[in-house]
Amino acid sequence: MYIHDNKKTRGNGFSRIAFVTVLFLVIAIAGFLAYQFIFISQPVLKGTDGFTVLPAAKTIVLQGKHIKSLEVSVNQGDRKIELLKGTPGGVEKTYTLQIKPKDLALSDGIASIQVRAESGMFKKLSQDIKATIDTVPPALNIIKSPEVVSQGGAGFVVLMAKDTDSVFVKLEDRRFPAFRKPSEQSAQDGKASYYYVFFPIPYDVKENALLYAVAQDAAGNQNVQAIRSTIKPVSYRLSSIAIDDKFIDTVAASLLNETSISDHASAFKKVNEDLRAKALEKLMDISKNTDPKILWNEAFLQLRNGQVMAVYGDKRTYQYKGNTISHSVHLGYDLASNAHAPVEAANSGIIRFAGDLSIYGNTVVIDHGMGLMSLYGHLSSISVSEGQPVSRGDIIGKTGATGLAGGDHLHFGMLLHGYEVSPLFWWDLHWIRVNVLDAMEG
Ligand SMILES: [Zn+2]
Repeated sequence: MYIHDNKKTRGNGFSRIAFVTVLFLVIAIAGFLAYQFIFISQPVLKGTDGFTVLPAAKTIVLQGKHIKSLEVSVNQGDRKIELLKGTPGGVEKTYTLQIKPKDLALSDGIASIQVRAESGMFKKLSQDIKATIDTVPPALNIIKSPEVVSQGGAGFVVLMAKDTDSVFVKLEDRRFPAFRKPSEQSAQDGKASYYYVFFPIPYDVKENALLYAVAQDAAGNQNVQAIRSTIKPVSYRLSSIAIDDKFIDTVAASLLNETSISDHASAFKKVNEDLRAKALEKLMDISKNTDPKILWNEAFLQLRNGQVMAVYGDKRTYQYKGNTISHSVHLGYDLASNAHAPVEAANSGIIRFAGDLSIYGNTVVIDHGMGLMSLYGHLSSISVSEGQPVSRGDIIGKTGATGLAGGDHLHFGMLLHGYEVSPLFWWDLHWIRVNVLDAMEG
């Protein structure tokens, strides 16, 4: 009995220990599972959409959160190539992958990208992404390009490109878009097309600046060809303009919409520098809306009986009470005729802007297509409206002295993709024939 009891007690003791152990294990496992379920965050991986199109070379940046392990592989046919494996991330980590399909012996076409990430037993992320591999860059040839382009001048290039999404000329960080030759604008993709680009050499571009023609495809492959035009330096004139309180009180007051100016020098500086910069920005905006065709085929007209008062590139310093208070560069031609002389459209095109343009006063901008525009400033009256087509020689308004002007004159400017270039070339039929019309004919 005692022994039995003892046995029983011992048996009871044993099963109690077993029970407690099991209970402890159950609690520990439940705790572990609960921890995994509740306290481990779901893995997050951003940037995997970068895999959908893979050109010849691509850098893909993935932003991971709570990732314990990450595997990325590319599968094509029966091949599987690891792109990333293991790599624990901690709370946040950036993974950078440089993918060159040819180095991985992948063929152009479709591949599948598998992304597997986990932060814990139950928190996993799995993505299968369909990738299009396209490593063939678009074809690009320079057909015609100018030998020499002047500072403040313009160039015209004819390109031939195939399988491209965008074609442009690059000059430092500026891009000038190409337009398909008008007769080929409805041509099908997959065939080579001619492209035209008008590009400016803004007055302050250095002689050693480099010009490139670039064709890009939708996948991001690009073909870059150097344009071997020489940039010819131009020395600009220096001019000094004396201004007085009366000039500032009349001109600056209305541009700033103030009736009493206390600090004349700073009011003038504000008009000449801040408002000038804003007006140039506005011109850049206007220039974006251009017709894809060339809307003209003759030399540009100059103001009739206009006397040249200032030329393109004049570096102006402004003197007030014996001190230089401001500087500017004059980016057009000032032409004076009789007061309120009729102003003709210099060439055929579409009116893109007709109204007040700050320091330019009442202004008309005509779009001649493919990024080329002409500008008429300081008008006393405007007789056209935006969107209206005009022919070469149509009257668009009358000269005046609105905006930042000392007297009645026309400020005439030529713009290419929003940059003011010298009108001189565009008044010259010989230059136009040699550089544009002949180049278009092949
Ligand atoms: Zn001017």
